[in-house]
Amino acid sequence: MTGLIRWPATAGQYVFSIQANDGHGGIATQTSTLNVVRAETALFAEDGVAGQRMSFSELDDGFRRLQTSDLASLVDEVLGRLETGGIDQARIAAVRNTSVRIVDLPDAALGSTDGDSILIDMDAAGYGWYVDSTPSSDIPAGPMDLVTVLAHEFGHRIGLTHEDAEQDRFAFMGETLQAGVRKFV
Ligand SMILES: [Zn+2]
Repeated sequence: MTGLIRWPATAGQYVFSIQANDGHGGIATQTSTLNVVRAETALFAEDGVAGQRMSFSELDDGFRRLQTSDLASLVDEVLGRLETGGIDQARIAAVRNTSVRIVDLPDAALGSTDGDSILIDMDAAGYGWYVDSTPSSDIPAGPMDLVTVLAHEFGHRIGLTHEDAEQDRFAFMGETLQAGVRKFV
């Protein structure tokens, strides 16, 4: 059976239940889940490949699952660097109170937006997060850099697009990110 469903999707998780009736009393039900992210604001792990999902106990401070308490100081750091990078102070002030939500994004998605919110995947598509706000561009191989992903999503909030990645100073606006790479110093 094939089919096409068109509807104005907003980001989120949708569960579909399809019921087939053979006309003789036989009924089969299949349930599938569809995760929708906004491609124009999403940032994906390079090659669209998710990492091996680690169990919580395997994640140490360098490779970890994200917690809300990690976010506030990193957001301040990212906004400060955007300002140093020449983004207008008023534009930064307008997005300072953006809510950043930690969610389970599908597959290789690291971050995205949903309306006025920023969504960050809880375990960096299985790679684990590198949570560190020092300005060094020398970061460990393995985890995904949260500073770069936050810069990317806040970049969208202030009006940057993936095309801005062509300018060196906005390299963090690229559509994909490699593990162990920081594109924002
Ligand atoms: Zn994006």
